Amino acid sequence: MNERKMSWEIRKKLKEIAGEEEGICIKDPGGKINVCLVYPNTYHLGMSNLGFTSIYSFLNSREDVFCERAFSADAFQPGGERAAPLFTVETQRRVGAFDLVGFSVSFENDYLNIIRALAAEKITPLRTERDEGAPLVFCGGFAPHLNPEVLAEICDFLVLGDGEPPLTGLLEILGKKPESKRKFLEAAASIPGVYVPSLYDPLYSSEGAFQGFRGDTKGVQPAVADINRYPAHTTIFTRRTEFGDMFLVEIARGCVKKCFFCGVSHSPHGFRCLDKETIKGLILNGLRYRKRVGLVGSAVLDHPDFLEIARFVLDEGAAVSPASIRADMVDEEVADVLGASGLKTAALAPETGDEARRLSVAKGIRDEQFFEASLLLFSRGIANLKLYFIAGLPGTREDDDVHHTVSFVKKLNHHIRASRKKSSAPMIIVSMGGFVPKGMTPFQFAPFPGVERLRSTYWKLRKMLGPERGVKFESDVPKYSYLQALLSTGDRRISRALSGWDGKTDPLVHFKRAPVNPDYFTMREKTPGEILPWDGVYRGYGKENLWKRYRLSVSP
Ligand code: SF4
Repeated sequence: MNERKMSWEIRKKLKEIAGEEEGICIKDPGGKINVCLVYPNTYHLGMSNLGFTSIYSFLNSREDVFCERAFSADAFQPGGERAAPLFTVETQRRVGAFDLVGFSVSFENDYLNIIRALAAEKITPLRTERDEGAPLVFCGGFAPHLNPEVLAEICDFLVLGDGEPPLTGLLEILGKKPESKRKFLEAAASIPGVYVPSLYDPLYSSEGAFQGFRGDTKGVQPAVADINRYPAHTTIFTRRTEFGDMFLVEIARGCVKKCFFCGVSHSPHGFRCLDKETIKGLILNGLRYRKRVGLVGSAVLDHPDFLEIARFVLDEGAAVSPASIRADMVDEEVADVLGASGLKTAALAPETGDEARRLSVAKGIRDEQFFEASLLLFSRGIANLKLYFIAGLPGTREDDDVHHTVSFVKKLNHHIRASRKKSSAPMIIVSMGGFVPKGMTPFQFAPFPGVERLRSTYWKLRKMLGPERGVKFESDVPKYSYLQALLSTGDRRISRALSGWDGKTDPLVHFKRAPVNPDYFTMREKTPGEILPWDGVYRGYGKENLWKRYRLSVSP
């Protein structure tokens, strides 16, 4: 297909999609700051991402801004092919024509789609090679917040933490029409939550170890917004998305637990809850569009008013669906509201079948609590239980992983079947992913377990759990976990290598060819005195304490 025909097809498809949306915002772009917000994955995924859609609505709530959306990994918008152009949903304009192009990223592997999107729009991925006329490229979201350095050679600036306050400051500076990009970035760097990588040059020792920056990053910190001022909820309704049948509202952000592997819990923002009256007001409005309410958050059941909110939804004649269920929070009342909502699949996360290891990584939930929670949920008609496990947690061996997972699943299956009629026995789906070290967590010091080990673990588990009645096993792809580990722990040398990816070569082959060894970042245990890539950016996140907890966990 030639480019003209391809463009026509893409724009036709996007018009159709825009026509089906309720809540889309279309303005006259004239005289306004034009922002294109790109979700570096599919429309189907992006439109259920409240971080992405909330920032879109926040920007459009300002009179001086017109924000449009684009998605970079759709079959109808194939950014993977350099020639395929990227258009916005709202007005089907080319992304490259915008003043600002921002990416909202939750998962590190989507960084690859950023490179594809920029290349598709003929925007040079390496920031130092972009000229004054190129759009300002920025990025925000959970993944770069933990380690901004992997995007530092690509983005002109990054928004760290909650987006609304820093974006407000940035738009004010832009409104004053700074005379150059450089002037804009220098002014932007003083806004809390804005990181301008070009102002800080990395230093390396003669052995190649990262030594921090030339330039003081003391003022760089993630922004914290009042979530009651900027509540995140569905603002555009479409059936073409993962949770298209629901009205989503984020009722809590962060988590009360501090699991050693989890980036959510170690954010400096702590656990924050949306006020129950605000939630109820939003739900009443959302019920005009959908009859199912998705309560979003990593620790939804920890919201002090969870039961009241859930009953409120039921009393309004709708159903409720929590995004996360922690086994130690499931009691008769919680099971009642979930059962009354017709929930068919509940997800719990034991992380490991080894109770002692689970306690040592601060998950703090015993086997018995998982068994009791599962029985309670099944007793209310929930038909499937999805269990999330992590293979290769620091301090474990492959055979222990396999043995403990199989033993946990068999015990649980036995409990369930002993308490149910055979005909109504539910399905247990065992979902296994590889451990990936994340910045600012105790396990930031730990190595990735290795692709071969994960492959072998999954193969053994599939073989051992396969014959088990009512159990299904699924796993991630180990080489993509390795890639995620690299993009989670890399520094600017990985960023530079990423910027040179051609969008087609296997990314692991590409990184292997780069002048820096990817295993240096992924397969090595870090030392307590080592300066990690995100140490250069953030100060005072309690690294000494994280090291102590890591050592205690791997050698108790
Ligand atoms: S309970 Fe879940 S969200 Fe909370 S810290 Fe642990 S893994 Fe993270």
